[in-house]
This record gives sequence, structure tokens and C-alpha cells, in this order.
Amino acid sequence: MDQTLKVGFIGLGVMGQSMARHILRAGYPLYVYNRTRSKANQLVEEGAIWQASPEEVAQACDLVLTIVGYPEDVEAVYLGEKGLFKGAHSGQVFIDLTTSRPSLAQELTKKGQALGVTVLDAPVSGGDLGAKAGRLTAMVGGDAATLDQVRPILETFSASIQLHGSAGSGQHAKASNQIMIAGTMTGMVETLRYAKANGLDLEKVIATLTGGAANNWSLSNYGPRILKSDYSPGFFVKHYIKDLGIALEEAEKANLNLPGTKLAYDLYQELAKEGHENDGTQALIKLWWDQA
Ligand code: NAP
Repeated sequence: MDQTLKVGFIGLGVMGQSMARHILRAGYPLYVYNRTRSKANQLVEEGAIWQASPEEVAQACDLVLTIVGYPEDVEAVYLGEKGLFKGAHSGQVFIDLTTSRPSLAQELTKKGQALGVTVLDAPVSGGDLGAKAGRLTAMVGGDAATLDQVRPILETFSASIQLHGSAGSGQHAKASNQIMIAGTMTGMVETLRYAKANGLDLEKVIATLTGGAANNWSLSNYGPRILKSDYSPGFFVKHYIKDLGIALEEAEKANLNLPGTKLAYDLYQELAKEGHENDGTQALIKLWWDQA
């Protein structure tokens, strides 16, 4: 891909901040927008160009990536009064990296087609650390030829990029990912509670289990954070509730009962009610350890 390609990036939070930085460091001119202006300051100091709205980003760029919080934020950025589609021109590509609803990805793709804009859904996995390291996994839905064109941009922050099918398929792959994590997070927390209750050295338990069949990302990344009492996000509890809600909604549409996922959803709702919605998902252990 041509390094003179003008790239836009909207949503400069925990994930977007690092992802945008990788694109900038790869040498692409980068146009940025975020709801809270101050979160763009650092990137602007590093050479990014501030734009006053998604509409202005679309006007300035050939390709625009977005990673905001919730499906409602995606709607505001794409469909709002000063949204991306207001500034869109034919031949552009928009990629939504937010974990959002498959049906919204399909709607944006259709609206884009009417304007000659190709929209891809490409939610990511790998957390804040994966974003910083540029080692995310991107799950893509949409047009294969367009993905081939934009792959070098996605590669600036991804170690793995897989196309899963038509619009919305990336979001379905991400929902599958979040269903898996419902099991690894509840399993990790129960493992630590059990080991602690039986007087084991938790650092040794994590080191041993991550070397065997019980190894998983939640245990190896979030287990050590819990031992340091580090409950910062990482991945927000409030976003995980959103993701599990989407997964359960989609499961219902497919007549599937997912009791493990529902249990994780209920536990995370309880955690949010106790005031931990802005903590990282490893705070799940607080449902028990605060009382210990
Ligand atoms: P975050 O820190 O809350 O970042 C979201 C950013 O989007 C914020 O800076 C927010 O602005 C901005 N935003 C929201 N609505 C906007 C709008 N209408 N216009 C412009 N900017 C807007 O969240 P995050 O952790 O980066 O996560 C972002 C998405 O990635 C979520 O869907 C999450 O589920 C998903 N995800 C997260 C992780 C992770 O480990 N963190 C991993 C994979 C996927 P403000 O600064 O004003 O709040």
C-alpha cells in the first residue's frame, strides 16, 4: 500500500491510542479525532493531524479506521450529523474495529455501498498489551479484495488477520472469542480462589499451570495482575458486559442456550453493580476476595 495514503483514526482510548501510533510510526499521514480532544494531544505531538469531526476525517482521508466503545458510539461516528458518511466520497474504505453488533456492521456496509464506500468490520483481540506490542488478532468481515488492499495498514498493529466471510462475520468471530473468554475468566478466578484457600503459592501455581494443559491468555496475562492487585483496564468490565450481551443476543437469534456465557454475564453485571464497571475484567475476583 502507498505510504502517501491518507489514513484517518477515530477513537483514541486504551486500544485506539496504541493502534493509531503504530500506523503513524509506519509512515502514513494520520488524521485523528476523538470525543475527548485531550486524548489526541500525545499523538498530535508525535505528528498526527487533529480533525474537528468524523465528517472532516472522512473528507481528508482515503481510509478511516474506528475503534470506539459501544454500538451506539459506532452509530454516532458513522451516521451522526457530523458523521463519517456525511464526509464520505466514492472509493473510500472505512474499517470498524469496535466490538459491536453484527447487524450494525451489515447496516453500515449497505449504507456505504450506496455511497461507493466499502465498509469492513474488523474487531480485534489481544488487549491493551497486544495493542501496545502491535500483536493483535483482527477478525474481519466484508470484501476480500478490499481486505487485501488495506492489509498493510492492519498489519501495523496485528499479528494475525483472518477474513471470516461477509459483513458482520468479523463481529460473529469476535463474539465467539468473547464466549471463550467467559470460560477462561471464570476458570482463572476460581483456580486462584481454590489455590489460595488451600494455602498454595499463587505465583508458583500460575507459573505451573501456564506451562500445562490449563494454560490460557486470561491466566497468563490477568493472573499476575491480580497478584499485584492491579485492577486497571486492560479491558473494561463495562465493555465485557456489552460483548457478552451481544453474544447472548446473537445466540438467542440462533436458538442457542449458552449457560456458561450467561453465568459470566450475570457475574460481571453483579461486579458492575458493586461499582467496578470501570475496572479491568480481572476485577471479577473482587466478588470474593474483597470479602476474604
Ligand atoms: P476506551 O478506552 O473507552 O476507548 C474508546 C474511545 O472511543 C474513547 O476515547 C472515546 O472517547 C471514543 N469515543 C466514543 N464515542 C465516540 C464518538 N462518538 N466520537 C469519537 N470518539 C468516541 O475503550 P477501549 O478499551 O479502547 O475499547 C474500544 C473498543 O475495543 C471497545 O468496543 C472494546 O470492547 C474493544 N476491545 C477492547 C479491548 C481491550 O482490551 N481494551 C480488546 C479488544 C477489543 P472519550 O475519550 O471521550 O471517552
